Amino acid sequence: MNLFDTHAHVNFNAYKDDGEDVLRRCLNDGMNVVNVGSQYSTSKRAVEYAHKLSGVRLRARSRTPDEQGGVWAAVGIHPVHLKKGSFTHHDPWELSEEPASSAGREIPTVGEQLDYQKYLELAKDEKVVAIGEIGLDYHHFVEEDDVEFLKNLQKETLIEFIKLANEVQKPVMLHCWDGYDDLLEILQTHSVDKKGIVHSFIGSYKTAQKFIELGYVIGLNGIITYGESYDRLIKEIDLKNIVIETDCPYLTPRPLEKGIRNEPLFVKEVAQKIADVKGATLEDVAQITSQNAKLILNLSS
Ligand SMILES: [Zn+2]
Repeated sequence: MNLFDTHAHVNFNAYKDDGEDVLRRCLNDGMNVVNVGSQYSTSKRAVEYAHKLSGVRLRARSRTPDEQGGVWAAVGIHPVHLKKGSFTHHDPWELSEEPASSAGREIPTVGEQLDYQKYLELAKDEKVVAIGEIGLDYHHFVEEDDVEFLKNLQKETLIEFIKLANEVQKPVMLHCWDGYDDLLEILQTHSVDKKGIVHSFIGSYKTAQKFIELGYVIGLNGIITYGESYDRLIKEIDLKNIVIETDCPYLTPRPLEKGIRNEPLFVKEVAQKIADVKGATLEDVAQITSQNAKLILNLSS
């Protein structure tokens, strides 16, 4: 059984002491992992990890070449990092490079502006399989924010990144919170040649269907294991349009204990939940979602 975690952040500081070990465990299990950047420093680190681990092969068991996993990278600027400041969130792990401090839940954001040439250089790297995470986040605005200004900045940056994705002919890794209508409009007017993944999808089946009609696949993570809210969505989307992810270190799937650091191996629990709801086997879900991921990320041989 080969699982594919399409959206992980082992490139974040939460793994600064053992990131390589975490990734080696995945490779040993035949897994594929995409580490996703949220700003320039973490994007660069994602590419470095992918190269560092590219020579690692399974020693424990002999496997056929297509059972070998791999570590890949995505490069981009998360929309919350376009503003310099911070915001408060109920989940202290969320979006921060830093582990939660005892003091609290204040998430610092860096205020990075897109340097197109710098990202173009990174994006050309052979280990980069997607441009992201990029997108729209209207959820984390605070009272003193100039909301119209920030929304426009997010949209303009997204459109620039789409241009970049088309220049290097790679798909996009999209983050979207409270902005699906605007995102759909942008994708309709600024077509991405290689399409991509709508990561951490939390919308309705109807919304998912609109992305699927445009050629995108839907990324599901630990959020679907927190209750039954997404069971209907899981039932209604065809398995061929789903990829799975952890978004680690955040969003640890149940039944694992809340608050423990998530890691790519735990994507199995996301697959298990989909299997339970769809009445499929874990093996089928693992195999089909891995195939979908390879297809959209152009890794299929
Ligand atoms: Zn993420």
